[in-house]
Amino acid sequence: MQFIETRGNDGIKPSSVTFSEAILSPSASFGGLYVPVQLPTIDTAFLEKHLNSHYKTLALDFLTTFGIDIEEDVLQAALDRYDGFDDPKNPVPLSEIEEDCCVAELYHGPTRAFKDMALQPFGYILAKLAQKRDENYLIMAATSGDTGPATLETFKNQDNVKVACLYPDGGTSDVQRLQMVTEDAPNLKVIGVKGNFDDTQQTLKELLASEDFKAELQTRNIKLSAANSVNFGRIIFQVIYHIHSYLEMMRSGKISMGEKIYLVVPSGNFGNALGGYYAKKAGLPIEKILISSNVNNILTDWINKGEYDLNDRELVLTESPAMDILKSSNIERIMFDKFGAARTRELMENLASEGRFKLAAEELAKLQEDFAASYSDDTECEKEIAKYAQKGYIMDPHTATCMKAYETLREKALPTVIYSTAEWTKFSPTVAKSLGHPVDGDIEALQWVTENTNVSVPPMIHALFHKPIVHTVVVEKDAIKGEMLNFL
Ligand SMILES: *Cc1c(COP(=O)(O)O)cnc(C)c1O
Repeated sequence: MQFIETRGNDGIKPSSVTFSEAILSPSASFGGLYVPVQLPTIDTAFLEKHLNSHYKTLALDFLTTFGIDIEEDVLQAALDRYDGFDDPKNPVPLSEIEEDCCVAELYHGPTRAFKDMALQPFGYILAKLAQKRDENYLIMAATSGDTGPATLETFKNQDNVKVACLYPDGGTSDVQRLQMVTEDAPNLKVIGVKGNFDDTQQTLKELLASEDFKAELQTRNIKLSAANSVNFGRIIFQVIYHIHSYLEMMRSGKISMGEKIYLVVPSGNFGNALGGYYAKKAGLPIEKILISSNVNNILTDWINKGEYDLNDRELVLTESPAMDILKSSNIERIMFDKFGAARTRELMENLASEGRFKLAAEELAKLQEDFAASYSDDTECEKEIAKYAQKGYIMDPHTATCMKAYETLREKALPTVIYSTAEWTKFSPTVAKSLGHPVDGDIEALQWVTENTNVSVPPMIHALFHKPIVHTVVVEKDAIKGEMLNFL
């Protein structure tokens, strides 16, 4: 399987690359992204074959059918990372919350957010490739909370890969900060930045663009890669759990073979939703993918009106911070698939120069064949958290944005899978507040929720509060380059 570029080829980069190349150097011509030339087929025979498969068996078969240039023993070892999830046989359990609706819980990995689903196996593969080629890579991440911990966790103690993670000091939850600053391995560096997430991300961009930093990396023989969802190495693992959800719905008798379902995806950078789109395109019986957002509802406008407009929009900090995103990187892959490279390049260049683009009516119609969208504000999410807590199910605020989409966007009465992207323990103060008990910090919130509902706190979250803090650096923006050079 070869990979091509969403904005076409510049004549300098190769016109197509292998999977390994696409994940080691994920930036394509004209600032575009890599996409597979073709998708494998997920037909009835494939689904039937895996009706009783464990997750890893399904995943290995899917990856093999994809034909990527990674040896089977490496793939197998990468998938063994799912052994660290709560239930290795079923890393993504489904819970029924309504008669025709199940929540697929993507958060049963080591950092309790869905990022582990892809980053765990992806990190293993990337590190093995670097080691085999005897090359050294630096991965830099700016995080508002979930990507940072999952990236550090997957690469810790891996030779040939170093990870530097910048977080806004005071801009993450206690649990998220502790997950980063207690992560102890010689190849990891965590730096708190005085400022908000935008400042942190801006600082990272400036650093990555600065010539002397690039020169420093070159003299040290270090290449840059990326572990965010611009990297196709993450997307490929995000197709698999949609197939798994469908099979789980069949196993529990909620659907029969071939019956269509809705997926509801709480979205930010659109990696999760893109995985669902690829699964649908490959043949999984999905009626539509319902996209939920918070008040940073740029994806709602894109899907409902065909407009993507950054002008007059300010990023709003919400109780679902992992979805506080205005520039959603993976919509580009959808537009490439539907409108081709030339049009994608035109749209993305409009976005860069004018801060906006608008789809033509027939383009919008094509988008709406696969997607519908809605958004919820914090108050609405708190109400949903309280409503489902009453019914005995505790959900986090990201998952809560899905409920309105489930209630209002379905045109047919089909069974539905809602994706839960984080465990409540990462956002416990919001959960406690929604249940009528506002508290100050995570410790108090975790305790109150466990004492007043039917859920418990997993050991890795408990342990965070007793682990030594190894990363104590919190600096002004201009001190980051110095810190980085010291680390390298
Ligand atoms: C990353 C994240 C999202 C957004 O997922 P995308 O694939 O970027 O759309 C939603 N919820 C949580 C908790 C996340 O960590």
